[in-house]
Amino acid sequence: MTLFLYNTLTRKKEPFMPIDASNVRMYVCGPTVYDRAHLGNARSVVVYDVLYRLLRQVYGAEHVTYVRNITDVDDKINTAAIARGITIRQLTEEVTDWFHDDMSALGVLEANNNKPNGLMIEPKATDHITQMVKMIERLINNDKAYAADGHVLFSVKSMPNYGVLSGRIQEDLNAGARIKVESYKRDPNDFVLWKSADAEDDPSSVFDSPWGKGRPGWHIECSAMSTHYLGQDFDIHGGGSDLMFPHHENEIAQSCGAYPGSGFAHMWVHNGFLTVNGEKMSKSLGNFITVRDLLDKGIQGEVIRYALLKTKYNEPLDWNDKLLSDAKKELDTFYRRIKKDGGKEGMQKESDALILKALGEDLNVPSLLSVLHANTGGTLKYMGKILGILQQEPDEWFKGNSTAALGADNDANAVLLTNSSIELLILDRNEAKKAKDWKKADYIRNNLKSHGIILEDRPDGTTDWRRI
Ligand SMILES: [Zn+2]
Repeated sequence: MTLFLYNTLTRKKEPFMPIDASNVRMYVCGPTVYDRAHLGNARSVVVYDVLYRLLRQVYGAEHVTYVRNITDVDDKINTAAIARGITIRQLTEEVTDWFHDDMSALGVLEANNNKPNGLMIEPKATDHITQMVKMIERLINNDKAYAADGHVLFSVKSMPNYGVLSGRIQEDLNAGARIKVESYKRDPNDFVLWKSADAEDDPSSVFDSPWGKGRPGWHIECSAMSTHYLGQDFDIHGGGSDLMFPHHENEIAQSCGAYPGSGFAHMWVHNGFLTVNGEKMSKSLGNFITVRDLLDKGIQGEVIRYALLKTKYNEPLDWNDKLLSDAKKELDTFYRRIKKDGGKEGMQKESDALILKALGEDLNVPSLLSVLHANTGGTLKYMGKILGILQQEPDEWFKGNSTAALGADNDANAVLLTNSSIELLILDRNEAKKAKDWKKADYIRNNLKSHGIILEDRPDGTTDWRRI
């Protein structure tokens, strides 16, 4: 079975041919940990989580190495730490924990770098300064970089094929540019590999180097960590399409400049943009949505994940309330079918063939979802696993938080009841029924209904409930 993926480097859908099928290697740019993950960040993480699951299914879980880095040194981090009055280390540790919590709510597979034979690795930039310094030294030795005023700059003119990924060339950048060029740059396009530290910098963001105290540029992190864990040539490099230029273009220039003759990543995969109600998401427009915002409204992580996956990964995704409510309805339908068919197992071999047919065609999740819609409960749980959905017990799912609160911030009904407070109200109602206080029993039933909780009285006297 051959997988096909759209390769940004060649602008073609191509058969995926791993360099070594016994160790398929993928690198994806991870978060810069200065603030909560927003929906655009989450889309990228969820998309490559599915690609990772697919590669594991095709090549075997122990034959895939996936590296997703944590950028914990960056100017944005320094600015955010100062704004909050905490140290850089405090900020990056807190935000990394937030990232893990939020992604785990979305059902994203966790890194296992601390376990023996960890195959999903989440390296931190600050733990790999040595590798970055070594790579910068190689670039200087290869005449691809130069030191100036305590900084080290990459010489873009030294790489004739610069622009190979994005199609953007140096002349384009210069045309009409009226930006101030730092005096230490030989060419305005040259970018920073090592940045000299200021005297007042937080010590946890300052490192020693042959060029004096400073910190690495963002691009060199990914080049150094991908080479360290995956080698000079590896199979897939992923990330959001907003990273294609200059970040990914610069990664190629650095890695190929440091190791002439190497191909770096053989396939480049980019996920599409995310807009909110047709507009670019930004803090100034007030439409900036973090994963935590949605979870705090009581929206289940699985609903968010499903909504992120409903659009093909490389197409633009527009986020809106209807997308979320449709996701919830479709998942409800699947879970209802799973409940109806009980634990009946579907035909695994046939299911695998259907999964590979859909996802093997450039990770076409919408195509696999239409297969799910046409199937019975027995196969849904099995097929849902590769997408990271439908793994809960149906009863657990229907008692999970609802989307009822969505868009109803000023509505009293939007107040979410916890499962235990619902159970307490049901106990109260049962007491009232025993005492033949029908008025109170009805009041509790109607009150719960106004919160989106439906009670089902059973013949045996117990009451079951679900959220709508
Ligand atoms: Zn990167």
